[in-house]
Amino acid sequence: MYRHCKLGLVLLFLVASVGAPSALHSAESQATAIAIHGGAGTIRRENLTPEAEARLVAKLTEAVTAGHKLLLNGASSLDAVVTAIQILEASPLFNAGVGAVYTWDEKHELDASLMVGHTLQAGAVAGVRTVQSPIALAREVMLHSSHVLLAGRGAEAFAVSRGLPQISNETFSTPTRLQQLQRAKARENAGLSHSLADRVGTVGAVALDRHGGLAAGTSTGGMTAKRWGRVGDSPLIGAGTYADNRSCAVSATGHGEYFIRYNVAANICARVRFGGEDITTAAQAVIQGELLEAGGTGGVIALDPAGNIAMPFNTPGM
Ligand code: ASP
Repeated sequence: MYRHCKLGLVLLFLVASVGAPSALHSAESQATAIAIHGGAGTIRRENLTPEAEARLVAKLTEAVTAGHKLLLNGASSLDAVVTAIQILEASPLFNAGVGAVYTWDEKHELDASLMVGHTLQAGAVAGVRTVQSPIALAREVMLHSSHVLLAGRGAEAFAVSRGLPQISNETFSTPTRLQQLQRAKARENAGLSHSLADRVGTVGAVALDRHGGLAAGTSTGGMTAKRWGRVGDSPLIGAGTYADNRSCAVSATGHGEYFIRYNVAANICARVRFGGEDITTAAQAVIQGELLEAGGTGGVIALDPAGNIAMPFNTPGM
């Protein structure tokens, strides 16, 4: 399924799922599901030509299909999430990996996180500049360190020790993002706030595997013209990413400062787990309710252990 939300908000995501267990499946088998997003924000209509939209949809389709195929073959939700996100990180169309937004100092500082709902294991990295796939590094942190979140140079040293591909910071650069930085600086120098269009394209995925295991992951370049080592919600477990088999898996995208303060991803899962809400009610309440009231823009994809999916997003204009 592909849906394109209007009203100034561009939301691109794809969902795939397979049906209920059949007699041919093992006792452990059950429906699988995957949902991905390519960010949310305000894109002017004239900037999204049909050709540009087709390119985005094709890349999203490639990512969701790859993740879905893995799930159908019995892979874990973790592998499906990482695979889908890596495809989007490698594409210049999204604000993650190649195509990441610029910092004020004309660098790229990448954030990513992931979490597994069965064990509540999690891994995350913040402000990395030379790691080809931040989501792959987040998985290394989770599986091969005793920590959850590594930042900056230390995270890069860990990536080297794990043999992950390193690339120069310029490899993430694209002319479009440079223009966005220049626009953002001009706006800031004129005393105006940033345009939400300048950070569109964070990527994320949530998946449910045949064993009933949920996972969630998010990867981003953050906000255009960020300074002073700013870190958003995307690498923060609870704010931008959360997964718990007792409730749901969530990947967020939006204005990180709000998502951190409202602990958005974990909050949605807590409403499901302790408040007995279904994920649609819980996700809507947070995104369209308290977040919007506070002025926080963005949205989430959320998936529960039964394969139900919710995808509420908001914009200032909605
Ligand atoms: N949440 C990201 C951040 O604040 C940006 C985004 O999702 O658009 O860094």
